[in-house]
Amino acid sequence: MNKPLQIEQFEWSQSQPISQQLPYTFTNGLVFNGLNGQCGNCGQLIRPDDIHGSISTLSAERCLMVAKGYCYYCDTLTCFNFIIDQEGQAQVVDIEKSAAADNCTKPN
Ligand SMILES: [Zn+2]
Repeated sequence: MNKPLQIEQFEWSQSQPISQQLPYTFTNGLVFNGLNGQCGNCGQLIRPDDIHGSISTLSAERCLMVAKGYCYYCDTLTCFNFIIDQEGQAQVVDIEKSAAADNCTKPN
């Protein structure tokens, strides 16, 4: 069951922009500076300021970013669920499959 978009947008507006939590510094000193999101619906770039969510530490080399980006062009939210490793490469995590709560569009 999907949440109505208004509720999702409200939750999105209540969460912190990822850009305010960046740069994320790993314990070994390497830094993740963020990424540009892309709308899963229309493909427009989503500014870092419009990606809201949280970054949590998994281990010394990995952190988990769970966020949603709001697209002003087509009025939709795109999920960005990433594991970021110390190389600074974002890897998509299949959180949707285990949670199955939101109708998330996978980023490219
Ligand atoms: Zn869009």
